[in-house]
Amino acid sequence: MLVNKMVKSTLVAVGILAGGVLTTSMPFANNTVHAQALDQEMVVIAHRGASGYLPEHTLPAKALAYGMGADYIEQDVVLSKDGVPVILHDIHIDTTTDVVKKFPDRKREDGRYYAIDFTLAELKSLNVTERFKADTGKQVYADRFPGEYGMFKIPTLEEEIKLIQGLNHSTGRDVGIYPELKDPAFHHAEGQDIAETVISILERWGYNNPDSNAFVQSFDWGETQRIRNELNYQGKLVQLLGENRWGPPEGTDYDYLKSDEGIAEMARVVDGIGPWLPQVVTGLSENGTAVMTPTLIAAQRAQLLVHPYTLRADQLPKWAGDMDIALKAIFDDAGIDGIFTDFPDQVVQYLARNPDA
Ligand code: CA
Repeated sequence: MLVNKMVKSTLVAVGILAGGVLTTSMPFANNTVHAQALDQEMVVIAHRGASGYLPEHTLPAKALAYGMGADYIEQDVVLSKDGVPVILHDIHIDTTTDVVKKFPDRKREDGRYYAIDFTLAELKSLNVTERFKADTGKQVYADRFPGEYGMFKIPTLEEEIKLIQGLNHSTGRDVGIYPELKDPAFHHAEGQDIAETVISILERWGYNNPDSNAFVQSFDWGETQRIRNELNYQGKLVQLLGENRWGPPEGTDYDYLKSDEGIAEMARVVDGIGPWLPQVVTGLSENGTAVMTPTLIAAQRAQLLVHPYTLRADQLPKWAGDMDIALKAIFDDAGIDGIFTDFPDQVVQYLARNPDA
């Protein structure tokens, strides 16, 4: 029902046959590419779960996302002191848990509390709340789940896989996982190998072939290549894109990765990219359609899947008056393959209302 990669490939082929503009630039035609036009409908990726409604990365937020009809549910993964992959967005735990109250003496010299300094048992003793600001204690998103209700726990990666696979069993649906390896270089510096640890768990749970319903993502381009070439992971990979001004992982140059050459290089290794939304759609043109970036056009030509982050109903792009305007631009105009969102229900409902999107 939706424009998919097969249709897009056909359009490219037609353009070539017709001698159209598309023939003027096919820099990837001779490359051995890993990306290969997965025939897939637009996908809704629940960013940290249904995090617009329940505290991010808690099992209730994941179950809610599942019930809302998300296609994929995201896991950010860090390691505990005893090497167990747990689901947390940050290597720090002081802005989503009560660690400061429970373990006041366990901060590092920089004043922060690190997940990797705590055993799994210690992490499990913490209560998880809605994200708050370290300096003021105020919630980052004021109208989300009340921060004083700190009744949630940090899940392990395997607990979350069990939740999703269990729901797949009981509902008959096939919802995928979307784990991100958080800061692999930090983990290496701490003497731990997050990629190896996570990949071995994914293999154990059946997520190690190109058809597995999983995407593994990382901001670290060196580590992404290592996962494919050294750890020999056969499942789907997504390279996340940030901006160089954010302080990228050492050896990762986002300006290069966003260029035609960078896109071609990534297409030899990964199945898709996860750009920041402004890196693919910058606004609306005078006639109200999406303005697409050269990075987006190059990625689509290289048959890379494009899954931008993050669409939030309570923090929309400046150019979008509401979710429908944003989603029309992203899906209908720009032909983007999927979106990370804190509000999976709203994207699922949009796609149901717009079956030709
Ligand atoms: Ca993430």
